Amino acid sequence: MTGPLWVDVEAAEYPSLAGDIEVDVAIVGGGLTGVGAAWTLRESKLRVALLEERTLGSGASGRNGGFVLAGPAMSYCDAVSKCGAEAAREVWQLTVENNRLMAELIDQHSIDCGFLRGGSLSLAVDEEELMILQRCRDALDEAQISTAMLARDELPVPFDRMYLGGIYYPGNAEMNSGAFVRGMGHAVRQSTLIFERTTVRGLSHDGRWVLETSGGTIRADSVILATNAYTGRLLPAVPLTPTRGQVVATAPLDRVIVPFPIYANYGYQYWRQTVEGRLVVGGWRDIDLLTEVGTEERANTLILKHLEDFVRAVAGDVPIEYRWSGIMAFTPDEFPLVGAVPDNRGLFIAAGYSGHGVSMAFTCGGLAAQMALGQSPVIPKVFHPGRQLEAAALDVGRGPHRGELQ
Ligand SMILES: Cc1cc2nc3c(=O)[nH]c(=O)nc-3n(C[C@H](O)[C@H](O)[C@H](O)COP(=O)(O)OP(=O)(O)OC[C@H]3O[C@@H](n4cnc5c(N)ncnc54)[C@H](O)[C@@H]3O)c2cc1C
Repeated sequence: MTGPLWVDVEAAEYPSLAGDIEVDVAIVGGGLTGVGAAWTLRESKLRVALLEERTLGSGASGRNGGFVLAGPAMSYCDAVSKCGAEAAREVWQLTVENNRLMAELIDQHSIDCGFLRGGSLSLAVDEEELMILQRCRDALDEAQISTAMLARDELPVPFDRMYLGGIYYPGNAEMNSGAFVRGMGHAVRQSTLIFERTTVRGLSHDGRWVLETSGGTIRADSVILATNAYTGRLLPAVPLTPTRGQVVATAPLDRVIVPFPIYANYGYQYWRQTVEGRLVVGGWRDIDLLTEVGTEERANTLILKHLEDFVRAVAGDVPIEYRWSGIMAFTPDEFPLVGAVPDNRGLFIAAGYSGHGVSMAFTCGGLAAQMALGQSPVIPKVFHPGRQLEAAALDVGRGPHRGELQ
């Protein structure tokens, strides 16, 4: 099949907008970020609309690998070198809290999304990566974050033949984040006007925000852009590089090949096995980096072949039932943009998770929503949109240099 394993992206559950409406807050985009914003606004008594061009979870949130990894998009020691130990630790804490909250909501709303917390393993493909992992281990130790370094002979079979060693992170998890988005859609449907198959085509301001959509005009006091890789269509100056990733999934297998989510080669390769036993393999974007920039969702056959070869190498000749691609958004420094868009009163953004949004986006959407409520939430300084939007012209065009899961 071509299409993600996680959700039926063609199945709409909510109406399209038909006519003009007035709301207090308009959320554009129905992925993890959008439902995170809607969830935060649920008790505000404000009139809130969530507008989704396709269906809830049909963007990256329903097309990813489902790794729920604490920490920033880059490796922890990279984050410490870039922004200091304190800021790296703050980002770590945000993701840990995000993952705790998602687990609580999954329980509370009985969302069937295969959430499993069994830890994860980051493997070294060569000596250089092994040294980096050791440095990260030291930085994590200093931050009193518990991990374990595994030598090659301690790795699960058959990965001990392919990689040199790695770090085990006991707190990490895996899930179907598309199903989580749909579940949270149900959880907020009483407090949010949800419109699917409704494209926001243009954004202007005449005292209030005016959103021209495929189904009518919306006037709103505040707008939250939860449009991740597609934000540039509404806010052209935004320094987000849309970047494609591909994933394949096998039929359910009757044996455990991967005990917990594993990733390697600086985050460019990743695989896990779902609760139904399907082996899910994604990444390998580094073999064709330039082709993978842009918003076109057509899968790259060269990369698919590498994913399928990997499936065969570790699981033998098993049927591959799903093949799909999705679009991520990278920022130049690989920290997301979360908060007020400078010089645009009432316009907020949460986007650019640089391939790592499962453990951030729900909370970041919530932080943008808190700002729309006039609150002043604590947002890591390294996430402030001003750092890049003001200097956008300098940074546009500098592409990502590492894989999605580090
Ligand atoms: C192949 C792949 C693998 C990944 N693997 C992982 C992983 O294992 N772990 C991890 O942490 N992260 C992973 N990610 C990244 C993660 O999925 C994203 O960071 C996260 O889902 C972003 O959520 P979002 O809600 O901001 O964006 P999306 O889920 O992309 O949602 C944005 C939504 O906005 C809608 N939209 C856009 N423009 C408009 C408009 N003008 N009008 C109306 N609607 C609009 C889109 O249709 C879309 O549904 C992966 C991503 C991909 C593509």
